[in-house]
Amino acid sequence: MSPGTVDAALAGARAVGLDRLDAQLLLAAVLGRDRSWLMAHGDDALAPDQAAQFDTLAARRSAGEPVAYLLGRQEFHGLTLQVSPAVLVPRPDTETLVDWALELLGTELAAAGRPQVLDLGTGSGAIALAIKHRCPRAELTAVDTSPDALAVAESNAQALGLSIALLPGHWWSPVSGRRFELVVSNPPYIAGDDHHLDALRHEPRLALTPGGDGLDSLREIVVGASAHLHDGRWLLLEHGHDQAGAVRALLAAAGLQDVSTRRDLGGNDRCTGGRWRQATR
Ligand code: GLN
Repeated sequence: MSPGTVDAALAGARAVGLDRLDAQLLLAAVLGRDRSWLMAHGDDALAPDQAAQFDTLAARRSAGEPVAYLLGRQEFHGLTLQVSPAVLVPRPDTETLVDWALELLGTELAAAGRPQVLDLGTGSGAIALAIKHRCPRAELTAVDTSPDALAVAESNAQALGLSIALLPGHWWSPVSGRRFELVVSNPPYIAGDDHHLDALRHEPRLALTPGGDGLDSLREIVVGASAHLHDGRWLLLEHGHDQAGAVRALLAAAGLQDVSTRRDLGGNDRCTGGRWRQATR
């Protein structure tokens, strides 16, 4: 392999600890090509500025910056989303929540006309936009406390041509007095002392952990459910792999019924949901 080629650059990145896939994605972005082009052009020479640009990205990646931030985009549920360090990088695990929401929209909420759907803590807008994309008749409202995150969500909505209402504020406060057919949320849920937070240090801490045992945001959301769901309608929550029992107990204590948990692609308990039923007297 000669120095200064595509293959040499990839080997250099591997040597500083990058995954093969990450190295390919970053080099492809620098060259404005795709991965299959790289594979067919291993002996092509890189221009010096391309090599320098790639070395910088490889160094940042090896220092822990997510590839999604370096590329400025991430695939989620069939959409390409813009991301920045103002938002959590959308994870494949969260597609479980979207799939569950779409299933309800296609079955019991199919007759609901234009179902009102709320996404609490929308970040990049990933969940709300993926739902709107696949179920255009749903009317999506998305809330986030971070103005910088809402700007990213707004820009994604425009780029994708999807219309969602974006509201600034803390959990339920921007939608006080309103009720929904479906509420979804991927709130911060990592415990404040979890060592995984070190590896996630480039992402907004606010989006990852509420501190303490990690359940405070989930508690706040569950407590507001009865005032914001129509009778018989659904709250679906993402949570940590070891929090399903705790979240089921929170939902049951708040009067939600038909509570169940679903697993993500990795087989971990990831989402728990239930429906609000008005007490009959
Ligand atoms: N699933 C993310 C992680 O563990 C955490 C996201 C969140 O707190 N909502 O990396």
